[in-house]
Amino acid sequence: MNHRNRTVCFALLFAALGAHLLERPLGALAWAALVLQFLIGPQLQYLWARRSAQPVQAEFFNMLIDSVGFGLWVAVLGFPLAVTLILPIGASFNLTAFRGLRGLGEAVVATGAGVLLGVVLQAPVWWPQAGALATGLAVLVLHVFVALVALSAHDRSVRLHVARQQLRTSEQALQQQLEQNQRLHAQLEDRAHRDPLTGLFNRRYLVETMERALAQSVQQGQPLSLLLLDLDHFKQINDTWGHQTGDEVLCAVATRLAAHVRAGDTVCRYGGEEFLVLLPGMPHAQAEERARHCCAELAQQPIQAGDRRLAMTWSIGVASHPLHGGSAQALIAAADRALYQAKHQGRNRVAMMPAHA
Ligand code: GH3
Ligand code: MG
Ligand code: MG
Repeated sequence: MNHRNRTVCFALLFAALGAHLLERPLGALAWAALVLQFLIGPQLQYLWARRSAQPVQAEFFNMLIDSVGFGLWVAVLGFPLAVTLILPIGASFNLTAFRGLRGLGEAVVATGAGVLLGVVLQAPVWWPQAGALATGLAVLVLHVFVALVALSAHDRSVRLHVARQQLRTSEQALQQQLEQNQRLHAQLEDRAHRDPLTGLFNRRYLVETMERALAQSVQQGQPLSLLLLDLDHFKQINDTWGHQTGDEVLCAVATRLAAHVRAGDTVCRYGGEEFLVLLPGMPHAQAEERARHCCAELAQQPIQAGDRRLAMTWSIGVASHPLHGGSAQALIAAADRALYQAKHQGRNRVAMMPAHA
């Protein structure tokens, strides 16, 4: 029961019980008790609960005291009809709302104890009838009490609704933040796997992918080939046209290379002007054919770098699993040796090592 409700209802109870006392005078002590319980009591109870280390426990204790007091007044006043009906209802309602069925039992026991105390303190009296003013005031208390409780319930449900709304908004914001984090994480991961100049995959990504692709090829008994491509005399491009043009050539070559692979192939920038194409499932003869096609295509179609068309060629080393080994290291080494051979033989050509050389 909150402070406002208790103060208002108790003030009205003071008036209702006071009206009974006017009809059946019980002396100054009764008036003093009435003032203490119904006018001063709510303020003391509020202060005590607020200052208590366990305010909920303190409020429970306050309600028990209220219930005992109500029972006491019912007995002392001689069980006037309206008061006998209303005070126990108030006690049970408060404690039940506070502690459920257990609270209801506690209210019944505490009110009953109050009634017993009242009967013991003075000889049992029986004055069920009360005047119109006393009865009317008692009934008014019930109406006001019910209205205040309903108002409190309404306030609480509005606050609950607002809190739920806020919770939903925060949940949505959190979800959006989470999705953004996931997007950023995916972007970062992708960036970590990409070469910043050409946008192709980098060497680190290739090594991871190749291990996986090789393991799968071994498991499925499938071939796997790789092409190691190195631009011929690329240094001359830098020396003649500048580093910027050299970069543009690298980007254009990368784009062209990426456009000519299958969906499952991986193209990466392996080093400065070296590229590597991983061809899962492709047998050696077919990879060799693919390499020749790459060579011819670059030689026949000059690269557009800015407003210049530059004739470029490259040398390509081919290696395949299982022909040249079963590990990424062995295959790359075989392709590297083949590339060296292609350079040695005059460039703009494809070379491969003999099996397991
Ligand atoms: P070869 O035919 O023997 O491969 O000759 P090459 O000139 O292509 O090879 P070399 O190893 O002598 O030179 C490679 C050059 O590639 C040297 C280096 O400055 C250049 N290079 C490496 N990375 C980049 C880059 O990111 N941008 C530019 N513009 N040049 C690069
Ligand atoms: Mg090189
Ligand atoms: Mg080169």
